Amino acid sequence: METLAPMTGRFVLLDRDGTINQEVDHLDHPDQVALIPGAAAALRDLRSAGLGLIVLTNQANVGRGLLPPDRLEEINDRLAALLSDEDVRLDGLYVCPHAPEEACECRKPRPGLAVRAAADHGFLPYEAFVVGDHAADMGLGRGIGAVTILVRTGHGEDELATGAGAQADHVVADLSEAAGVILDIVLSEARR
Ligand SMILES: [Mg+2]
Ligand SMILES: [Zn+2]
Repeated sequence: METLAPMTGRFVLLDRDGTINQEVDHLDHPDQVALIPGAAAALRDLRSAGLGLIVLTNQANVGRGLLPPDRLEEINDRLAALLSDEDVRLDGLYVCPHAPEEACECRKPRPGLAVRAAADHGFLPYEAFVVGDHAADMGLGRGIGAVTILVRTGHGEDELATGAGAQADHVVADLSEAAGVILDIVLSEARR
Protein backbone atom coordinates (compact mmCIF):
# COMPACT_ATOMS: atom_id res chain seq x y z
CA MET A 1 0.00 0.00 0.00
CA GLU A 2 1.41 3.38 -1.00
CA THR A 3 1.49 5.96 1.75
CA LEU A 4 0.01 9.41 1.20
CA ALA A 5 2.00 12.34 -0.14
CA PRO A 6 2.66 15.22 2.28
CA MET A 7 -0.41 17.40 2.69
CA THR A 8 0.37 19.66 5.63
CA GLY A 9 3.34 21.28 3.88
CA ARG A 10 5.29 20.41 7.01
CA PHE A 11 8.26 18.11 7.11
CA VAL A 12 10.02 16.00 9.70
CA LEU A 13 13.80 16.09 9.33
CA LEU A 14 15.15 12.89 10.76
CA ASP A 15 18.61 11.76 11.73
CA ARG A 16 19.42 8.25 10.47
CA ASP A 17 21.75 6.30 12.81
CA GLY A 18 20.48 5.91 16.37
CA THR A 19 17.16 7.51 15.44
CA ILE A 20 15.62 5.30 12.71
CA ASN A 21 18.12 2.44 12.60
CA GLN A 22 20.12 0.99 15.47
CA GLU A 23 23.38 2.74 16.28
CA VAL A 24 26.32 0.58 15.18
CA ASP A 25 29.98 1.51 15.64
CA HIS A 26 31.43 2.19 12.17
CA LEU A 27 28.34 1.12 10.27
CA ASP A 28 29.82 0.14 6.90
CA HIS A 29 27.70 -2.73 5.53
CA PRO A 30 24.02 -2.96 4.57
CA ASP A 31 23.66 -6.12 6.69
CA GLN A 32 24.25 -3.93 9.77
CA VAL A 33 21.12 -1.88 9.15
CA ALA A 34 18.36 -2.79 11.61
CA LEU A 35 15.34 -0.66 12.35
CA ILE A 36 14.76 0.48 15.93
CA PRO A 37 11.55 -1.18 17.18
CA GLY A 38 8.54 1.02 16.45
CA ALA A 39 10.45 3.33 14.10
CA ALA A 40 8.71 2.23 10.89
CA ALA A 41 5.26 2.47 12.47
CA ALA A 42 6.12 5.96 13.76
CA LEU A 43 7.14 7.11 10.28
CA ARG A 44 4.00 5.58 8.80
CA ASP A 45 1.85 7.50 11.31
CA LEU A 46 3.61 10.77 10.51
CA ARG A 47 3.14 10.27 6.79
CA SER A 48 -0.50 9.30 7.25
CA ALA A 49 -1.00 12.63 9.02
CA GLY A 50 0.34 14.39 5.93
CA LEU A 51 3.88 15.14 7.04
CA GLY A 52 6.85 14.83 4.71
CA LEU A 53 9.77 12.66 5.79
CA ILE A 54 13.38 13.55 5.05
CA VAL A 55 16.54 12.00 6.45
CA LEU A 56 19.59 14.20 7.05
CA THR A 57 22.75 12.30 7.96
CA ASN A 58 26.40 13.12 8.69
CA GLN A 59 28.65 10.42 7.21
CA ALA A 60 32.14 11.70 7.93
CA ASN A 61 33.64 8.26 7.28
CA VAL A 62 33.15 8.92 3.57
CA GLY A 63 35.34 12.02 3.79
CA ARG A 64 37.84 10.13 5.93
CA GLY A 65 38.13 7.48 3.22
CA LEU A 66 36.74 4.76 5.50
CA LEU A 67 33.40 4.31 3.74
CA PRO A 68 33.25 4.13 -0.08
CA PRO A 69 30.37 6.22 -1.52
CA ASP A 70 28.86 3.20 -3.30
CA ARG A 71 28.79 1.30 -0.01
CA LEU A 72 27.02 4.25 1.62
CA GLU A 73 24.46 4.07 -1.16
CA GLU A 74 23.93 0.35 -0.51
CA ILE A 75 23.36 1.11 3.17
CA ASN A 76 20.83 3.84 2.37
CA ASP A 77 19.11 1.54 -0.14
CA ARG A 78 18.88 -1.15 2.54
CA LEU A 79 17.26 1.31 4.93
CA ALA A 80 14.78 2.35 2.24
CA ALA A 81 14.00 -1.32 1.52
CA LEU A 82 13.39 -2.15 5.19
CA LEU A 83 11.07 0.87 5.46
CA SER A 84 9.33 0.00 2.20
CA ASP A 85 8.61 -3.48 3.61
CA GLU A 86 6.66 -1.62 6.30
CA ASP A 87 4.87 0.62 3.76
CA VAL A 88 6.98 3.68 4.51
CA ARG A 89 8.46 5.86 1.79
CA LEU A 90 10.89 8.67 2.51
CA ASP A 91 10.62 11.92 0.54
CA GLY A 92 14.36 12.31 0.53
CA LEU A 93 17.68 11.44 2.11
CA TYR A 94 20.54 13.94 2.22
CA VAL A 95 24.08 13.07 3.22
CA CYS A 96 26.98 15.21 4.38
CA PRO A 97 29.96 13.08 3.29
CA HIS A 98 32.56 15.49 4.62
CA ALA A 99 35.03 15.06 7.46
CA PRO A 100 34.79 17.73 10.20
CA GLU A 101 38.08 19.34 9.15
CA GLU A 102 36.68 20.04 5.67
CA ALA A 103 34.55 22.77 7.32
CA CYS A 104 31.68 22.29 4.84
CA GLU A 105 28.32 24.02 5.08
CA CYS A 106 26.35 20.77 5.32
CA ARG A 107 27.77 18.91 8.32
CA LYS A 108 25.17 19.07 11.08
CA PRO A 109 24.75 21.26 13.15
CA ARG A 110 25.34 23.49 10.12
CA PRO A 111 22.11 24.06 8.17
CA GLY A 112 23.23 23.10 4.63
CA LEU A 113 21.35 19.80 4.33
CA ALA A 114 18.13 21.28 5.70
CA VAL A 115 18.41 24.32 3.41
CA ARG A 116 18.91 22.04 0.40
CA ALA A 117 15.97 19.82 1.39
CA ALA A 118 13.71 22.84 1.93
CA ALA A 119 14.58 24.22 -1.51
CA ASP A 120 14.01 20.84 -3.21
CA HIS A 121 10.72 20.10 -1.45
CA GLY A 122 9.36 23.60 -0.97
CA PHE A 123 8.85 23.76 2.79
CA LEU A 124 9.68 26.41 5.36
CA PRO A 125 12.55 25.24 7.59
CA TYR A 126 11.11 26.94 10.68
CA GLU A 127 7.91 24.93 10.27
CA ALA A 128 9.85 21.66 10.32
CA PHE A 129 10.43 19.22 13.15
CA VAL A 130 13.96 17.93 13.71
CA VAL A 131 14.37 14.54 15.40
CA GLY A 132 17.74 13.08 16.35
CA ASP A 133 19.90 11.43 18.99
CA HIS A 134 22.70 13.98 18.93
CA ALA A 135 23.50 17.53 19.99
CA ALA A 136 24.34 18.26 16.34
CA ASP A 137 20.74 17.44 15.37
CA MET A 138 19.38 19.75 18.04
CA GLY A 139 21.82 22.47 16.97
CA LEU A 140 20.68 22.16 13.37
CA GLY A 141 17.05 22.37 14.44
CA ARG A 142 17.68 25.42 16.62
CA GLY A 143 19.58 27.06 13.79
CA ILE A 144 16.68 26.82 11.36
CA GLY A 145 14.04 27.66 13.96
CA ALA A 146 12.44 24.21 13.91
CA VAL A 147 10.89 22.26 16.77
CA THR A 148 13.66 20.02 18.15
CA ILE A 149 13.10 16.55 19.59
CA LEU A 150 15.90 14.50 21.16
CA VAL A 151 15.42 10.72 21.28
CA ARG A 152 17.11 8.64 23.99
CA THR A 153 17.93 5.83 21.52
CA GLY A 154 21.37 5.65 19.88
CA HIS A 155 23.66 8.20 21.52
CA GLY A 156 20.70 10.10 22.96
CA GLU A 157 21.16 9.03 26.55
CA ASP A 158 24.87 9.93 26.51
CA GLU A 159 24.18 13.18 24.73
CA LEU A 160 21.64 14.13 27.39
CA ALA A 161 24.31 13.59 30.04
CA THR A 162 26.57 16.07 28.27
CA GLY A 163 23.92 18.77 27.93
CA ALA A 164 22.26 18.18 24.54
CA GLY A 165 18.89 18.44 26.26
CA ALA A 166 19.35 22.19 26.58
CA GLN A 167 18.79 22.60 22.84
CA ALA A 168 15.85 20.19 22.70
CA ASP A 169 12.26 21.39 22.89
CA HIS A 170 11.23 17.83 23.77
CA VAL A 171 13.14 14.81 25.09
CA VAL A 172 11.49 11.47 24.36
CA ALA A 173 12.23 7.75 24.59
CA ASP A 174 12.34 7.02 20.89
CA LEU A 175 11.02 7.86 17.44
CA SER A 176 7.67 6.37 18.32
CA GLU A 177 7.25 8.87 21.16
CA ALA A 178 8.63 11.66 18.97
CA ALA A 179 5.88 10.96 16.42
CA GLY A 180 3.32 11.27 19.21
CA VAL A 181 4.69 14.71 20.18
CA ILE A 182 4.67 15.89 16.55
CA LEU A 183 1.15 14.63 15.90
CA ASP A 184 -0.10 16.35 19.08
CA ILE A 185 1.38 19.65 17.88
CA VAL A 186 0.07 19.33 14.32
CA LEU A 187 -3.40 18.27 15.44
CA SER A 188 -3.72 20.99 18.08
CA GLU A 189 -2.74 23.60 15.47
CA ALA A 190 -5.29 22.19 13.03
CA ARG A 191 -8.02 22.68 15.65
CA ARG A 192 -7.17 26.36 16.17
MG1 LIG B 1 22.47 9.75 15.08
ZN1 LIG C 1 29.23 18.47 4.41
